[in-house]
Amino acid sequence: NGLSLNEETPPALPQPVKIPDIKHTKIFINNEWHTSVKGKTFPTFNPATGVKICDIEEADQADVDKAVEAAAAAWRRGSVWRQMDASRRGALLHRLADLLERERCLLATLESMDTGKPFLHAFFVDLDGSVKTLRYYAGWTDKIHGKTMPVDENFLCFTKHEPIGVCGAIIPWNLPLLMFIWKIAPALACGNTVVIKPAEQTPLTALHVGALIKEAGFPPGVVNIVPGFGPTAGAAVASHMNIDKVAFTGSTEVGQLIKEAAGRSNLKRVTLELGGKNPCIVFADSDLQLAVEEIQKGAFFNQGQACTAASRVYVQEQVYDEFVRLSAERAKNIVVGDPMDPRTSHGPQIDQRQFEKILELVNSGKKEGAKLEIGGCALKDRGLFIQPTVFSDVKDHMRIAKEEIFGPVQCIMKFKTQEEAIDRANSSEYGLTAAVFTRNIDRALSVSSAIQCGTVWVNCYNALHAQAPFGGYKMSGNGRELGEYGLAEYTEVKAITIKLTEQLRLI
Ligand code: NAD
Repeated sequence: NGLSLNEETPPALPQPVKIPDIKHTKIFINNEWHTSVKGKTFPTFNPATGVKICDIEEADQADVDKAVEAAAAAWRRGSVWRQMDASRRGALLHRLADLLERERCLLATLESMDTGKPFLHAFFVDLDGSVKTLRYYAGWTDKIHGKTMPVDENFLCFTKHEPIGVCGAIIPWNLPLLMFIWKIAPALACGNTVVIKPAEQTPLTALHVGALIKEAGFPPGVVNIVPGFGPTAGAAVASHMNIDKVAFTGSTEVGQLIKEAAGRSNLKRVTLELGGKNPCIVFADSDLQLAVEEIQKGAFFNQGQACTAASRVYVQEQVYDEFVRLSAERAKNIVVGDPMDPRTSHGPQIDQRQFEKILELVNSGKKEGAKLEIGGCALKDRGLFIQPTVFSDVKDHMRIAKEEIFGPVQCIMKFKTQEEAIDRANSSEYGLTAAVFTRNIDRALSVSSAIQCGTVWVNCYNALHAQAPFGGYKMSGNGRELGEYGLAEYTEVKAITIKLTEQLRLI
């Protein structure tokens, strides 16, 4: 066949589905597809082409009411779901993970079409993370248990960790499938039922997974999906009297609205994953090439549309010029283009509103005197594509150093001392993630301890794992997702105390 013995055929790259058959565009309640009560639909677009993909049934208050009724019925005492063995819930979550793997190419294609992210990123990052999260929580279902406490006098006292009930979830458009799984997996592992609202820009993968949830064998009403808009369907979830908990990922402004609505309605439990303005500190003793690579991958991951985006980079003065030079050079070589092309690593922004917001912030950076090293504009005649952008000489008072940009913009600043870098890193209303680059382990540990963030990465970036908690300090949110900590947000703790008649101490 012409191949010499030493030549290996490279592994074939996964291929997007050329013309995907989009079967699921309706509201998913009780394992059935419903049209909207008001008879309304909304379009979803491909941000890479501007072309409408399809129309989706639009959920509003009345549809959310139906979904909550189904979720409450599925959770009622004596229901199939409530009586199911915990280990069986784990088997269902594993089965769902199997189905996601079976449909990996189709789901990655739908995700790429709906968000504009490169197909290969959707295939490897979003699908991988989703499957791993499902399998991780599948393993927890029969390991969620309480404690016995040595209370005073003659009692037996123990705790049970019980499901909360009907859990609402409202998710964003940047990682639609992954955020869907981050919400449903721990909720179901603990035995709750779910009403989830995908973002209006990106409903396709959530609805497709609805069909897989039914196929996996989850009983009707356990997961219900209500595609629609924030102020209508989202607000209905946040203020619903029969939803016991709401988990939200999105902007800090909407997070505040959700918390208010929960407080005004039934004091439902609230967990929030909000914005970030994440600092990276690069010390002169770091592996500079590694720092440039990792930080820039963090800055431009998902077209910069990530709450973890590495958007504030503090570099020690001795290596500052070199860091800036290498960063600009790396950004220049990023391939921006058609998300379905395997050579592409950078796609368009999600919509016109985000596109304009990013360019407005880039212009503010130029006006306020930051030095534009590369990028800084849209690709000519290419819709929503923005060139990966690097600013140097950024000052702390500039808007680009303070506001969440949610676009492909890296801001580089200079520092002298460790104390100064820590103070400046902490001088933000946000506290989601941070990164430290140094070869000195003592420095890595003391800076990690001093940073006010939920996650600190040392000599790496975006190293997220299903086993480790993720969440914010300050205005980046409340509560944690993932890991064992994530489970605590989906259970109530009940203490049961039994008076013993025998005069014996059990503990
Ligand atoms: P958003 O916060 O408005 O939307 C997130 C989700 O909340 C969507 O499902 C939306 O429909 C819903 N929502 C909106 N208004 C609501 C309301 N009043 N009540 C209940 N739900 C509501 O985010 P966006 O407008 O799509 O993006 C704006 C900014 O938010 C971005 O520029 C970025 O800074 C930030 N953002 C952060 C994340 C994140 O992962 N932390 C994700 C997306 C956007």
